[in-house]
Amino acid sequence: MQTPHIRTTLPGPKAKQLIKSDENYLSPSYTRLYPLAVKRGKGMMIEDVDGNRFLDFTAGIAVCATGHCHPRIVKAIGRQSKKLLHMSGTDFYYAPQRDLARKLTQIAPGKSPKKVFFTNSGAESVEAAFKLARYHTKRHHMIAFFGAFHGRTMGALSLTGSKVTQRKGFEPLIPDVTHVGYGYCYRCPYNLTYGSCGMECVSYIENYIFKKTVAPEEVAAIIVEPIQGEGGYIVPPPEYHRMLKALAEKYGILYIVDEVQTGMGRTGKMFAMEHWGIEPDIICVAKGIASGLPLGAIIARAEIMDWEKGSHASTFGGNPVSCVAALETISLLEEGLIENAAKMGKFLMEELQKMQNRHRWIGEVRGLGLMVGVDLVKDPLTREPATAQRQEILERCFQKGLLLLGCGESAVRFSPPLIVNRKEIEIALEIFDEILTEVEANPLG
Ligand code: PLP
Repeated sequence: MQTPHIRTTLPGPKAKQLIKSDENYLSPSYTRLYPLAVKRGKGMMIEDVDGNRFLDFTAGIAVCATGHCHPRIVKAIGRQSKKLLHMSGTDFYYAPQRDLARKLTQIAPGKSPKKVFFTNSGAESVEAAFKLARYHTKRHHMIAFFGAFHGRTMGALSLTGSKVTQRKGFEPLIPDVTHVGYGYCYRCPYNLTYGSCGMECVSYIENYIFKKTVAPEEVAAIIVEPIQGEGGYIVPPPEYHRMLKALAEKYGILYIVDEVQTGMGRTGKMFAMEHWGIEPDIICVAKGIASGLPLGAIIARAEIMDWEKGSHASTFGGNPVSCVAALETISLLEEGLIENAAKMGKFLMEELQKMQNRHRWIGEVRGLGLMVGVDLVKDPLTREPATAQRQEILERCFQKGLLLLGCGESAVRFSPPLIVNRKEIEIALEIFDEILTEVEANPLG
């Protein structure tokens, strides 16, 4: 195991150079959280261009489930790349695409027969799910959630309700999408308290939306993240998905579950929906599926995937190299990484909860498996988001060799590769604790 090691000021001289010339050529729309210029990655560690070593608790935005450059993934990619790089799974047949589709249908929750459509990203998976829902139901309306992030292509963006900057300037988007409050008890969108709320976050849809503005028989699908990801690592109350799914079934509405971030073992189950024992109609996956190679998919109940030849396709979707990387990733997940995610996630949550007793800024620690968020607040009573302070904390952790990301207005997300061990979690928490103490002592504004 390696530990973080910072040998230059950050950014170092080579990183500065790279960043300066990068700015000449790359789109200014990229978010770029802090000046990390990556040279290589191995396991839990990232090395920058100046030889500084960081402990990676981002997994490249919850992608590198098996760690960076896992030898078995690299080997599988190498083997396949000598045989076939591309031929297009849209027009032709090849075994890796078939093998992966078969595997995904076997591991997806529920007993119904399933079929798979391959894409290249999370947004494309959401596009495919959106189109399939319309095609199959012959209905046009969609229900989505405030706080949801489904991607940035026009269809996926229409369903996204995370940050206004993501939508501003791109309207008009696809019409007939209604956003409603998510099951977010810490900051209830209905200002109610769990236990006495009557699960307003579900019943509002039936009592208001379906009575006042949208005919339920015109709704193709409800699209929902099992746990909101970019929205703040928000775990809904235990009965939420069961009730929402029952509502969908009552009106013949499809239940699309966006498992792009929660899927592929991250929450301690292969798919997060297994925690609630629910079989979705369509599942969207991407991110962690191929350990860093671009790949996405939808897995739908076979009777729903009834679109005709030529109605939807993708040149690169189901790329053979990505497919073998995904098959190897799934083997590694099944051989112990899912179990590790559950075990290490529990340890991480417990340690963060202990830390909460020492830090007035930790408003809530929440998550499942290795999808853990720490909501930072200026005052635990008002729960006012500590947004600027969160950014300061992320930057200072980077300076100390710990890579973290934010999510939601003021949460820090811990989404390490699923190979993480106890010692690495202890190192990360030590750095986080130290930085939190520093910033709490000298708060900004
Ligand atoms: N859906 C969810 C739940 C996500 O978290 C993301 C990305 O963060 C997406 C969709 C979009 O994925 P991509 O960036 O691969 O298009």
